[in-house]
Amino acid sequence: MFHRVFTLGQLQCNASLLGDEETREAVVIDPGEQPRALIDAIRDGEWRVKEILFTHAHIDHVAGALEVQQLTGAPVAMHPADLGLYDSLAEQAAWIGMPTPPRVEIAHWLEEGEVLECGSVRLKVLFTPGHAPGHVSFYLADQAMIVSADVLFRASIGRTDLPGGNHSQLLESIRTQLLVLPDETRVIPGHGPATTIGLERRTNPFLAD
Ligand SMILES: [Zn+2]
Ligand SMILES: [Zn+2]
Repeated sequence: MFHRVFTLGQLQCNASLLGDEETREAVVIDPGEQPRALIDAIRDGEWRVKEILFTHAHIDHVAGALEVQQLTGAPVAMHPADLGLYDSLAEQAAWIGMPTPPRVEIAHWLEEGEVLECGSVRLKVLFTPGHAPGHVSFYLADQAMIVSADVLFRASIGRTDLPGGNHSQLLESIRTQLLVLPDETRVIPGHGPATTIGLERRTNPFLAD
Protein backbone atom coordinates (compact mmCIF):
# COMPACT_ATOMS: atom_id res chain seq x y z
CA MET A 1 0.00 0.00 0.00
CA PHE A 2 1.12 3.52 -0.77
CA HIS A 3 0.67 6.08 2.04
CA ARG A 4 1.94 9.61 2.24
CA VAL A 5 1.09 12.34 4.74
CA PHE A 6 0.99 16.00 3.69
CA THR A 7 1.03 18.67 6.38
CA LEU A 8 -1.09 21.47 4.99
CA GLY A 9 -2.22 25.01 5.72
CA GLN A 10 -1.98 27.45 8.60
CA LEU A 11 -3.13 24.88 11.18
CA GLN A 12 -0.77 22.22 9.80
CA CYS A 13 -3.38 19.53 9.24
CA ASN A 14 -2.14 16.09 8.23
CA ALA A 15 -3.78 14.97 4.98
CA SER A 16 -3.33 11.37 3.84
CA LEU A 17 -3.09 9.98 0.32
CA LEU A 18 -3.59 6.21 0.48
CA GLY A 19 -3.59 3.91 -2.47
CA ASP A 20 -3.14 0.52 -4.09
CA GLU A 21 0.08 0.73 -6.08
CA GLU A 22 -1.08 -1.94 -8.54
CA THR A 23 -4.47 -0.53 -9.48
CA ARG A 24 -3.51 3.15 -8.87
CA GLU A 25 -6.79 3.61 -7.00
CA ALA A 26 -6.51 5.96 -4.03
CA VAL A 27 -8.47 7.83 -1.38
CA VAL A 28 -7.72 11.16 0.26
CA ILE A 29 -8.38 11.42 3.98
CA ASP A 30 -8.85 15.09 4.94
CA PRO A 31 -7.88 17.31 1.99
CA GLY A 32 -6.64 19.95 4.45
CA GLU A 33 -6.25 23.60 3.60
CA GLN A 34 -3.99 24.90 0.79
CA PRO A 35 -3.65 21.36 -0.66
CA ARG A 36 -1.19 22.20 -3.44
CA ALA A 37 1.40 19.57 -2.44
CA LEU A 38 -1.32 16.91 -2.19
CA ILE A 39 -2.71 17.85 -5.60
CA ASP A 40 0.74 17.73 -7.18
CA ALA A 41 1.31 14.25 -5.74
CA ILE A 42 -2.05 12.99 -7.04
CA ARG A 43 -1.25 14.32 -10.50
CA ASP A 44 2.38 13.17 -10.57
CA GLY A 45 1.46 9.71 -9.28
CA GLU A 46 -1.43 9.42 -11.75
CA TRP A 47 -3.62 8.33 -8.87
CA ARG A 48 -7.29 7.70 -9.56
CA VAL A 49 -8.86 9.13 -6.42
CA LYS A 50 -12.11 7.27 -5.74
CA GLU A 51 -13.26 9.22 -2.72
CA ILE A 52 -12.38 12.19 -0.53
CA LEU A 53 -13.03 11.24 3.10
CA PHE A 54 -13.53 13.74 5.92
CA THR A 55 -12.69 12.58 9.43
CA HIS A 56 -14.70 15.56 10.69
CA ALA A 57 -15.85 18.94 9.45
CA HIS A 58 -13.31 21.32 11.01
CA ILE A 59 -12.18 23.88 8.49
CA ASP A 60 -8.50 22.93 8.55
CA HIS A 61 -9.42 19.39 7.51
CA VAL A 62 -11.95 20.18 4.78
CA ALA A 63 -11.10 23.58 3.26
CA GLY A 64 -9.21 22.12 0.30
CA ALA A 65 -11.95 19.68 -0.72
CA LEU A 66 -13.15 21.56 -3.80
CA GLU A 67 -9.63 21.94 -5.20
CA VAL A 68 -8.98 18.21 -4.80
CA GLN A 69 -12.41 17.42 -6.25
CA GLN A 70 -11.83 19.66 -9.26
CA LEU A 71 -8.69 17.68 -10.11
CA THR A 72 -10.02 14.21 -9.37
CA GLY A 73 -13.81 14.36 -9.76
CA ALA A 74 -14.01 12.25 -6.60
CA PRO A 75 -17.14 12.28 -4.42
CA VAL A 76 -16.91 13.43 -0.80
CA ALA A 77 -17.89 11.39 2.27
CA MET A 78 -18.40 12.29 5.92
CA HIS A 79 -20.46 11.22 8.93
CA PRO A 80 -23.91 12.85 9.13
CA ALA A 81 -23.45 13.89 12.77
CA ASP A 82 -20.92 16.51 11.60
CA LEU A 83 -23.34 18.24 9.25
CA GLY A 84 -23.93 21.00 11.79
CA LEU A 85 -20.21 21.74 11.89
CA TYR A 86 -20.02 21.60 8.12
CA ASP A 87 -22.86 24.12 7.94
CA SER A 88 -20.80 26.45 10.17
CA LEU A 89 -17.74 26.78 7.92
CA ALA A 90 -18.30 30.56 7.69
CA GLU A 91 -18.17 30.90 11.51
CA GLN A 92 -15.16 28.62 11.70
CA ALA A 93 -13.43 30.76 9.07
CA ALA A 94 -14.20 33.91 11.03
CA TRP A 95 -12.71 32.46 14.26
CA ILE A 96 -9.36 31.85 12.66
CA GLY A 97 -9.42 34.80 10.28
CA MET A 98 -9.43 33.07 6.94
CA PRO A 99 -11.82 33.26 3.98
CA THR A 100 -14.81 30.90 4.01
CA PRO A 101 -13.88 27.89 1.90
CA PRO A 102 -16.16 26.72 -0.90
CA ARG A 103 -18.68 24.08 0.10
CA VAL A 104 -18.76 20.76 -1.70
CA GLU A 105 -21.69 18.38 -1.98
CA ILE A 106 -21.55 15.40 0.38
CA ALA A 107 -22.24 12.36 -1.78
CA HIS A 108 -21.76 9.58 0.79
CA TRP A 109 -22.79 9.54 4.47
CA LEU A 110 -20.40 7.33 6.39
CA GLU A 111 -21.74 4.76 8.86
CA GLU A 112 -20.06 3.19 11.86
CA GLY A 113 -18.56 -0.17 10.91
CA GLU A 114 -18.72 0.46 7.17
CA VAL A 115 -15.77 -0.96 5.22
CA LEU A 116 -14.47 1.09 2.29
CA GLU A 117 -12.45 -0.60 -0.45
CA CYS A 118 -9.81 1.02 -2.59
CA GLY A 119 -8.17 -1.63 -4.74
CA SER A 120 -6.84 -4.12 -2.19
CA VAL A 121 -6.85 -1.54 0.63
CA ARG A 122 -9.68 -1.84 3.15
CA LEU A 123 -10.60 0.96 5.54
CA LYS A 124 -13.08 0.41 8.35
CA VAL A 125 -15.06 3.40 9.61
CA LEU A 126 -14.83 3.74 13.40
CA PHE A 127 -17.23 6.22 15.03
CA THR A 128 -15.08 8.27 17.43
CA PRO A 129 -17.07 11.34 18.56
CA GLY A 130 -15.95 13.76 21.27
CA HIS A 131 -13.66 16.23 19.51
CA ALA A 132 -16.49 16.65 16.98
CA PRO A 133 -19.94 15.03 17.13
CA GLY A 134 -19.49 13.12 13.87
CA HIS A 135 -15.77 12.38 14.04
CA VAL A 136 -14.72 9.11 12.45
CA SER A 137 -11.36 7.34 12.34
CA PHE A 138 -10.27 5.00 9.55
CA TYR A 139 -8.79 1.65 10.60
CA LEU A 140 -6.65 -0.36 8.18
CA ALA A 141 -6.32 -3.67 10.00
CA ASP A 142 -4.25 -5.31 7.24
CA GLN A 143 -1.69 -2.51 7.49
CA ALA A 144 -1.87 -2.21 11.30
CA MET A 145 -2.66 1.47 10.95
CA ILE A 146 -5.33 3.92 12.03
CA VAL A 147 -5.95 7.46 10.85
CA SER A 148 -7.17 8.91 14.14
CA ALA A 149 -7.23 12.56 13.06
CA ASP A 150 -8.12 14.81 16.02
CA VAL A 151 -9.08 12.04 18.47
CA LEU A 152 -5.61 10.91 19.57
CA PHE A 153 -2.22 12.58 19.13
CA ARG A 154 1.31 11.77 20.20
CA ALA A 155 1.16 12.44 23.98
CA SER A 156 -2.12 14.34 23.68
CA ILE A 157 -5.80 14.03 22.81
CA GLY A 158 -8.24 16.17 20.85
CA ARG A 159 -9.51 19.44 22.29
CA THR A 160 -13.15 19.47 23.34
CA ASP A 161 -13.73 23.17 23.98
CA LEU A 162 -15.01 23.88 20.46
CA PRO A 163 -18.74 23.68 19.57
CA GLY A 164 -19.92 20.07 19.61
CA GLY A 165 -16.98 18.92 21.75
CA ASN A 166 -17.53 16.53 24.67
CA HIS A 167 -14.59 15.45 26.82
CA SER A 168 -16.08 12.34 28.43
CA GLN A 169 -17.37 11.19 25.03
CA LEU A 170 -13.86 11.66 23.57
CA LEU A 171 -12.29 9.54 26.34
CA GLU A 172 -14.96 6.89 25.78
CA SER A 173 -14.19 6.85 22.04
CA ILE A 174 -10.46 6.45 22.72
CA ARG A 175 -10.97 3.67 25.25
CA THR A 176 -13.58 1.67 23.32
CA GLN A 177 -12.46 2.21 19.72
CA LEU A 178 -8.71 2.90 19.76
CA LEU A 179 -7.08 1.40 22.85
CA VAL A 180 -8.63 -1.99 22.01
CA LEU A 181 -6.43 -2.16 18.88
CA PRO A 182 -3.09 -4.04 18.91
CA ASP A 183 -0.12 -2.21 20.47
CA GLU A 184 1.81 -2.10 17.20
CA THR A 185 -0.98 -0.23 15.40
CA ARG A 186 0.52 2.91 13.84
CA VAL A 187 -1.52 6.04 14.59
CA ILE A 188 -1.70 8.88 12.05
CA PRO A 189 -3.07 11.89 13.93
CA GLY A 190 -4.63 15.01 12.46
CA HIS A 191 -1.69 17.14 13.59
CA GLY A 192 1.88 16.38 14.59
CA PRO A 193 3.94 13.20 14.42
CA ALA A 194 2.75 9.62 14.12
CA THR A 195 2.68 7.32 17.14
CA THR A 196 1.45 3.85 18.07
CA ILE A 197 -1.45 2.59 20.17
CA GLY A 198 1.00 0.85 22.54
CA LEU A 199 3.07 3.98 23.13
CA GLU A 200 0.00 6.08 23.87
CA ARG A 201 -1.48 3.40 26.11
CA ARG A 202 1.71 3.43 28.19
CA THR A 203 2.72 7.08 28.14
CA ASN A 204 -0.12 9.44 27.13
CA PRO A 205 -0.72 11.67 30.20
CA PHE A 206 -4.36 12.26 29.24
CA LEU A 207 -5.10 8.54 29.36
CA ALA A 208 -3.49 7.80 32.74
CA ASP A 209 -5.96 6.44 35.26
ZN1 LIG B 1 -10.60 19.19 14.53
ZN1 LIG C 1 -7.51 19.46 13.29
